[in-house]
Amino acid sequence: MEGVAPNAVKRRGVAKPLNCMADHISASRKIIHVDMDAFFSSVGQRDDPSLRGRPVAVGYAAARGVVAAASYEARKFGVRSALPSVTAMGRCPDLVFVPPRFDVYKQVSGQIHEVFARYADLIQPLSLDEAYLDVTANKAGIETAWLTAKAIRAAILEETGLTASAGISYNKFLAKLASDHRKPNGQFAVTPDMGAAWVETLPVSRFHGVGPVTAEKMKRLGIETGADLRAKPFEFLQEHFGSSAGWYHAIARGVDDRPVNPNRVRKSSGSETTFDRDLVEAADIEAGVLRMADEVWRWCDGRCSFGRTATVKVKYGDFQQITRSRSQPTAVSTHDGLRQAALELIRSVLPAEKGIRLVGVTVSNFVEAQATAAEIAELPIFAEGIAA
Ligand SMILES: [Mg+2]
Repeated sequence: MEGVAPNAVKRRGVAKPLNCMADHISASRKIIHVDMDAFFSSVGQRDDPSLRGRPVAVGYAAARGVVAAASYEARKFGVRSALPSVTAMGRCPDLVFVPPRFDVYKQVSGQIHEVFARYADLIQPLSLDEAYLDVTANKAGIETAWLTAKAIRAAILEETGLTASAGISYNKFLAKLASDHRKPNGQFAVTPDMGAAWVETLPVSRFHGVGPVTAEKMKRLGIETGADLRAKPFEFLQEHFGSSAGWYHAIARGVDDRPVNPNRVRKSSGSETTFDRDLVEAADIEAGVLRMADEVWRWCDGRCSFGRTATVKVKYGDFQQITRSRSQPTAVSTHDGLRQAALELIRSVLPAEKGIRLVGVTVSNFVEAQATAAEIAELPIFAEGIAA
């Protein structure tokens, strides 16, 4: 199930007759994105042999339950994470529900990170079962990034009994796309000379930074593939996608200079704006807050990162500052949900007792989409807290 010549990503110092190509490749980075296959449900099938080969959903079959993760057998029936359990049972009558076991997931996550650490010093975890590794420095002394990825996957299988897939490329954007390409239990390399052309063939909905809402919007604008995206001038992207235009313009060409950053586990995303003059009219202030909520939403949607806590910050003309927060048991996963939360929070401090110079909206308490669904399955539908 492997896509590209094993020596496609050559390490520095290997003699090559075509020096220009060798130089180009050795000058570029080598990034591996490792992603466990159907992680939660695979753990379930590993630990209970009677579940192997059967459609498994992690979650609860309760009336308001939600599927947290689905095995590949269940996915064939259209069972996906975040699907209501009732719908899932309708699509797949033989579906077996198993409760989530976060202690085990965390333990396995620790094991795979021990494996990563043997092959790379620069590791950026994305979730319990996914990470970027920068193997440019070739810590393990293996000739190619391709073989390094193979070694990592073999060690994971040996030590956890679970399979992982890997994407190998010269940046994070392409490595992550590539790890999906030969799933499950496969790997795929995207070399510098094929990256830009490969991106053109893919649907934009698979791109990091293009969430479901953005993908819909792009479709309305006639952008469905990487090639469509590449064909749009920067000004067009700026007009329709604001500050995200630079990212879309770059990835359409296979360009992504973000480093693998071990400390880059984002805790919150926020936007704030200072008004031209201090505002007192409720409608003006609410409009400002909604604008910020829209900006934050673009970030959340683009990265499929949804948080449980919404916070509105207000700075008055005299620089006194207050914040109002609300947390829910489930992530705020819709644009309307975030707008509504932001509106309710700002309304709790209106009418303004003095002029407001700045408002901001922040989302925090990010939860893995999968974990969220499982954790909430048995919680009351809504809980509220106000913090000053
Ligand atoms: Mg995974």
